[in-house]
Amino acid sequence: MTLTLSGLSKVFGDATAVHPLDLTIPEGSFFALLGASGCGKTTTLRMVAGLEEPTGGRILLDGEDITRLPPHRRPVNTVFQNYALFPHLDVRDNVAFGLRRRGVKSVGKQVAEMLELVQLGELARRRPGQLSGGQQQRVALARALINRPQVLLLDEPLGALDLKLRRQMQLELSRIQAEVGITFVHVTHDQEEAMTMADRVAVMNGGRVVQLGEPAELYENPRSTFVANFLGTSNLVEAQVTAAGPDEIQVKAPGADGTLRLPAARCPAEGTGAGDTLLVGVRPEKIALTRAQDADQVPGGRNRLTGRIRDANYLGVSLHYLVDTPACAEISVYEQNVERDTRLTPGAEVVVHWRPAHTFALDAAQD
Ligand code: ATP
Repeated sequence: MTLTLSGLSKVFGDATAVHPLDLTIPEGSFFALLGASGCGKTTTLRMVAGLEEPTGGRILLDGEDITRLPPHRRPVNTVFQNYALFPHLDVRDNVAFGLRRRGVKSVGKQVAEMLELVQLGELARRRPGQLSGGQQQRVALARALINRPQVLLLDEPLGALDLKLRRQMQLELSRIQAEVGITFVHVTHDQEEAMTMADRVAVMNGGRVVQLGEPAELYENPRSTFVANFLGTSNLVEAQVTAAGPDEIQVKAPGADGTLRLPAARCPAEGTGAGDTLLVGVRPEKIALTRAQDADQVPGGRNRLTGRIRDANYLGVSLHYLVDTPACAEISVYEQNVERDTRLTPGAEVVVHWRPAHTFALDAAQD
């Protein structure tokens, strides 16, 4: 079912937790509400669940207004971070709970199916206290899914797990969502988690959705410095527009050799003209480094800055360089597959270069 929030808002006393919010979450999507602590994502989720009364606006499921329905009458279930399992019931009875409460007599087959879905069949007789965090999380998921909700709400469900288990459960949740095909709305402050799992992400800040889109679109084409920096390192450089065509914008950054180019579609507003100031950004893993003495080997047509390596850190899967350039205090670069003997060391003079298509621009005057 398609979930629509229409002007949905929440005010606590004199503080607005959620400003009027308009969102459409298509049926069968894995949707993430992403933002820092206090941005209003949990309050939004709780309003959808019926656990918090909205101050204004409406919640619609396939066009039907459910704003005033009590929680148990909504075809919606929630999985919380703390799992909220019954400690005295074993896995099987925890999962069966919702069905039994509804008076379903024969629950065995459905419970077995659910346990298979979350891969817990062998632990059916254990109690929550005898399970790992990840296993408890799966029980909570099975317990919610057995009620066949149209929408499953997940409130930081992986927050209590360690990093490795969290990564594993992220893939599991994606698999389960694809298998059951219902709408998942997932609340998280972890950008990597949102990007890994969701097919659409709404980034929230201060009670508002500040950008909405597919993960790659948000990452590669952020529309504000807040989103650019929340989703990763953005290497922002202040630059002056020197030429603005229908397809391409050219800018000059202080100390850059030549102009930097970027697609017009990656610019903040139509009507960008010569003389305007933009913040130009590029993600660290899109950048390559070449020693200054080999500068003639840099492929043509790339954006280039000259710089000097300030710091080089070995991270296992990649090398992280910080490069001082006249255009920007520091440029952050991740390089993979670097041979031990070709690594750059602090002090090395380099050309920093990347494809114009990987460049985005923000309005220098905004936030
Ligand atoms: P977190 O990740 O820390 O849970 P969040 O993004 O989910 O944060 P919310 O829990 O939705 O944020 O809170 C949004 C704002 O509303 C915060 O400023 C919070 O202090 C406030 N708030 C939330 N619940 C209440 C309440 N019951 N009474 C008063 N203020 C509240």
